[in-house]
Amino acid sequence: MNYYFHIPFCRQKCAYCAFYSLPHPENAQFDAYLTHLEKTLSATANPCAETIYLGGGTPTLLDAPRLKKLFDLIRQAIPLAENCEISIEANPETLDEEKIFLIRDFATRISVGVQSFFAEKRTRLGRVCSDGALQRALKLISEAKFPHFNCDLIYGVPGESKASWAHEFDFLADLPVDHLSCYALTPEEGSRLGGNYPVDDDLADDLWELTATFAREKLGLTRYEISNYAKPGGECRHNVNVWRGGLLRGYGPAASGFDGVDRMTQVGDFAAWLAGAPAELDHISITERLNEIFAVNLRTTGGWTREMWTRVPHADAWILRQNRARDLQNRYSGVILITEQKIALSEKGLRYWNTIAEELLE
Ligand code: SF4
Repeated sequence: MNYYFHIPFCRQKCAYCAFYSLPHPENAQFDAYLTHLEKTLSATANPCAETIYLGGGTPTLLDAPRLKKLFDLIRQAIPLAENCEISIEANPETLDEEKIFLIRDFATRISVGVQSFFAEKRTRLGRVCSDGALQRALKLISEAKFPHFNCDLIYGVPGESKASWAHEFDFLADLPVDHLSCYALTPEEGSRLGGNYPVDDDLADDLWELTATFAREKLGLTRYEISNYAKPGGECRHNVNVWRGGLLRGYGPAASGFDGVDRMTQVGDFAAWLAGAPAELDHISITERLNEIFAVNLRTTGGWTREMWTRVPHADAWILRQNRARDLQNRYSGVILITEQKIALSEKGLRYWNTIAEELLE
């Protein structure tokens, strides 16, 4: 089983973000969260965890004693597989030595929301983090020698150039990262920048292409998904499992789960979640669900193999998938690669994944 914990608190909202999180939380809200989480965790039997992902929000906004309590609750409620991957998202300005020590003792993977090494770009993004706080946090993480260390960056921000994007990788090259996530700036509806923010799509396309080169040449990381790069063995197992239709249990407001047939989403409202509002059930047909899982995993450079597909809950026949892929191949040249054993997108196909996914989900 894969587990996702949503910790719905942020120091303040970043300008592009519409994830569910409460800005400026108080200690009483942290405590209410932990108390209710304990109750929900103990209400059902939790199968052995292959992966656990603590995201948000900002999990590391909790102070050290509360962070420890969160880790203890999870340890007590969920049996961990021997090689269980435990990831935690962290924002640099919330980290100190004590928290890093606790996290290192609990998690196998830390994912840091850097977004940019340039203060001016972070300001444009509405990220509150000084250069000093960023460098201090990255030094502490580097010294703690996490088995896996990811940084998140954002590209395509107005004013950015190919040269400044290249320079981001020079900063990264000094860190022991084995994973990198790079997302194009896409301000969401409901965020402070809003859905109409002028994003330069051509620049974003160019930077996406360059990212694979910089990641490989400067960091030794290879693209394994449209937005993700890793050293061999550094891929985020949690995400890979979920993309391939692995079972997922979600805890915390707005957290999603998948039981092999239906998706359950916890209510995205802190007060309602505390009051015990039931999760929303997404009853879509098995055919639609399989199409969705098939499309999502095509974001990975490895795509699907026949053997992987048979492990998807309720998987249909491989021949159907091949026919669907051939149909796409006939309509769009050079986007999809098909063999007897494998279906994957080409580099050009990855770039047009959104369009391809829409077709697959019809
Ligand atoms: S981007 Fe992350 S840190 Fe910023 S508001 Fe959204 S969840 Fe919080």
